[in-house]
Amino acid sequence: MAERFDVVIVGAGPAGLSAGLVLARGGANVLILERGEYPGSKNVMGGVLYRHQLDELLPGFWREAPIERTIVEQNYWLLTPDAAVTFGYRTPRWADDPPNNFTVLRAKFDPWFAKKVEEAGATLITRTTVVDLIHDDRGRVVGVVAGRPEGEVYADVVILAEGVNNLLTQKAGLHDDWAMDEAALAVKEVIELPREKIEDRFGLEPGQGATVEMLGDATAGMLGMAFLYTNKESLSFGVGVLVKHLVYSGMNPNDLLERLKQHPKVRKLIEGGKVIEYSAKLIPEGGYKAIPRLFKDGLMVVGDAAGLTNAIHREGSNLAMTSGRIAGEVALEALAEGDTSSRVLCRYQQRLEETYVLKDLRKYNHANEFFDANPQFLRDYPELLSQVMREFFTVDSTPKWDKQAKIVRMVRQQRPLWRIAYDLYAMWRAIG
Ligand code: FAD
Repeated sequence: MAERFDVVIVGAGPAGLSAGLVLARGGANVLILERGEYPGSKNVMGGVLYRHQLDELLPGFWREAPIERTIVEQNYWLLTPDAAVTFGYRTPRWADDPPNNFTVLRAKFDPWFAKKVEEAGATLITRTTVVDLIHDDRGRVVGVVAGRPEGEVYADVVILAEGVNNLLTQKAGLHDDWAMDEAALAVKEVIELPREKIEDRFGLEPGQGATVEMLGDATAGMLGMAFLYTNKESLSFGVGVLVKHLVYSGMNPNDLLERLKQHPKVRKLIEGGKVIEYSAKLIPEGGYKAIPRLFKDGLMVVGDAAGLTNAIHREGSNLAMTSGRIAGEVALEALAEGDTSSRVLCRYQQRLEETYVLKDLRKYNHANEFFDANPQFLRDYPELLSQVMREFFTVDSTPKWDKQAKIVRMVRQQRPLWRIAYDLYAMWRAIG
């Protein structure tokens, strides 16, 4: 190849495509290299796509994009082996224009997004893996090496949007591999079911969708979460757990998923479905402290490659898009100013600090350590809450004052009230 571009982007996920769109619209000569057969072919996502960030880039995108369902109901289920304490919210307002969020299948959505970026003027080359960076003798990044004969491509700016397996970010000297407590391992199945069955089982109107996030016994009390999302004619069903907990417990997420399929709250929802897709992937979950330096001379790192996911709120694609957009804007400024050194590219990290992306990651910076050190939240409290709810809802001939006293006695036997108050206060301090 040995060609020259203003900007080369590695990876055509939401981060790389967002950067590419901004750059192409800004008149830059931009090349996106993607190792997959097509954008979306290598990507794993539970499937909730948030409207706001992409709407800023492609206003009203959902009217033509291949979305699966518009989400009108979101649920949290705290599971014990045979019960569930549930909490959720449903409103038809989320189906109104503009909606809040959607389910998508990345194998359909990413090619659509990529086409928009190509229409804006970017060049996309697929089936091409970038294997190295080119540095000049002063150590600044001046291009990439694609894994094909004569694969050097030179650029004023390189944007790494390579996702969680950030080998090039590591080669750039910006990051070591994720530590065991900085990433979760997730598995996901797509389970085919007829459209009417999905709508009946989840109580949905045509086109409407629901999400369920499951904690507690869903991950055998380990730090992580399971999910069940409705697509048009399938369900996205998966579970992710902090790698450290998997290693110490000797369990693997696939066993957890199979176990969860038997849970009475889950079994009937997926019954009769056929697994048509299976995937596994890491999710960076180390919070703010695990984020590498996001730039150096001639280079910026965006999206999952930079650890930009908010596990508590299962947000990742939106953070990827915002970081890609800002990196694209800063690259345009650098090109216009004729200075693509750190002096200008540092604006990317500075601007990201002012957005929800790094503000939220700072907020949850110590969430993993907190839940790691306080396993009672995912092991003991679900069981305790389940007992309380069972007693509360069970109608017998016990007068309500006595029932109330019984519940308090039951709780105190298992955990002193002062301890519960302290736990709640500590959680509020850690993530509130
Ligand atoms: P990716 O989407 O991973 O894209 C990176 C791209 O780079 C890939 O296409 C890859 O093929 C390509 N690539 C990598 N290396 C090279 C190379 N050397 N050369 C060329 N190409 C390369 N987020 C949400 O918002 N909502 C959810 O519901 C949600 N659920 C999730 C569930 C699971 C199980 C997982 C694993 C993640 C989930 N996420 C979710 C997170 C979300 O998927 C990511 O945050 C998002 O995809 C990050 O986008 P990205 O562009 O940074 O990386």
